[in-house]
Amino acid sequence: MSFQHSHDAELPREEQDLVAAAAEFCRGAFSDHLLDTHNQGQPYDAAWIGKWAEAGFLGLQTPREFGGHGASFLCKIRVAQTMAEHGFAAAFAINNLQGSVTRVARAGTDVQREHLLQAMLRGDVLCAPAMSEPGGGSDLGALTTTARRVDGGWLVTGTKSWITNGQIVHCANVLARIGGDDGGDAGQLASFLIPLNDGDTFRREEIHMPGARSFRLSHLVFHDHFVPDWALFGDPGQALRTSMASVNAARVHVAAMCVASMRAALREAVDHAHHRHAFGKPLIGHQGMAWELAEVSLRLEAADALVWRAAQAVQADAPALTLAAQAKKFAVDVALWGIDQCLRAMGATGASAAHRLAMQSAETRLGAFGDGTSEMLLDRIGKQLHQEYGAAPPRPPIDRKDPA
Ligand SMILES: Cc1cc2nc3c(=O)[nH]c(=O)nc-3n(C[C@H](O)[C@H](O)[C@H](O)COP(=O)(O)OP(=O)(O)OC[C@H]3O[C@@H](n4cnc5c(N)ncnc54)[C@H](O)[C@@H]3O)c2cc1C
Repeated sequence: MSFQHSHDAELPREEQDLVAAAAEFCRGAFSDHLLDTHNQGQPYDAAWIGKWAEAGFLGLQTPREFGGHGASFLCKIRVAQTMAEHGFAAAFAINNLQGSVTRVARAGTDVQREHLLQAMLRGDVLCAPAMSEPGGGSDLGALTTTARRVDGGWLVTGTKSWITNGQIVHCANVLARIGGDDGGDAGQLASFLIPLNDGDTFRREEIHMPGARSFRLSHLVFHDHFVPDWALFGDPGQALRTSMASVNAARVHVAAMCVASMRAALREAVDHAHHRHAFGKPLIGHQGMAWELAEVSLRLEAADALVWRAAQAVQADAPALTLAAQAKKFAVDVALWGIDQCLRAMGATGASAAHRLAMQSAETRLGAFGDGTSEMLLDRIGKQLHQEYGAAPPRPPIDRKDPA
């Protein structure tokens, strides 16, 4: 039994079934489609999102009373991993959609849930978080998009950048600064669930990312775009805090997908090294090659263990700021190095369209930017050094029970 499958054994039976169903969905036609479209320089067909929704996965973490599965965080990352083994960008993008459904279900107002939730669960309304801007990605405090109060709502002006699924979403959760002279709220950051009707006040500008079209990145450009009152998501002033509250989970989630992407690469490389002969024996029979892939395997399992430990902390609602940053930084570095090693170990074959390694390498590299770049993660870990490793009391043990 692989380490990964031993993780599944920690999940309740019905969550194990969800992971198995997701794995079944991803292998075969979907997996082939991801590779084919990548090789053609195209994003995967968005119709697959509808099929994923039909199978119930957009509601993976949506509470049961709203029609979802109410699954745990650990289940969510195992489901994301099953997809990331076949394509990192599709897994990142589709799980991003699922995250928006969860956010509306858990933190939306009654009106927002009534307007959007069932359509989101069906995949009829797709939504994206939109925080980054052309002038500020890591430094969110520098954002310049404004929301100015008018009769019955708000007028939003500004540009959101690098928005995953931005080319196809119907709605965006936009972080904006309250402008004008709106009493005590002026200058505060607020979040709005904005319906995206292309027209005079809103347009999309596709961002062409060679080798990673499945993220469907786009700028979202607003100019005096009217947003109804009901779209305000949470209290003004709390928006940044609310967004940052889920950042540990988001970091661990991306880290887990990096691990899965690397595991798939290692599997391909090991299979190849078994079947390809050189100098009278299988490649794997040469000590130099076996040791190279052994090194990949041990760093993979080290990353996997760290990510799973961080995931357990998030699941248990235990302090996870440092652990999540460490998990993402380490998993990203190890995955990019490891996929590259696997590609090299396969010779020219590894870089060909018949294999997934070039795709995994290009897509996983880009996934590393979201939810904290490596420098920002190191900065975060550095700021916590004294608390985590200095004279302060050690971090409490993780309660492994599912709080849900
Ligand atoms: C595939 C992909 C999907 C994305 N999806 C979304 C999305 O759905 N929604 C969304 O809002 N955003 C999204 N983003 C944007 C992402 O969050 C940003 O790219 C990220 O926050 C970094 O911002 P930036 O690219 O503007 O880089 P910058 O912030 O300009 O950073 C540039 C470089 O400077 C470094 N740097 C910055 N500050 C410091 C510092 N203080 N010390 C040392 N080094 C520093 C960074 O680490 C980086 O290497 C996505 C990006 C990608 C690539």
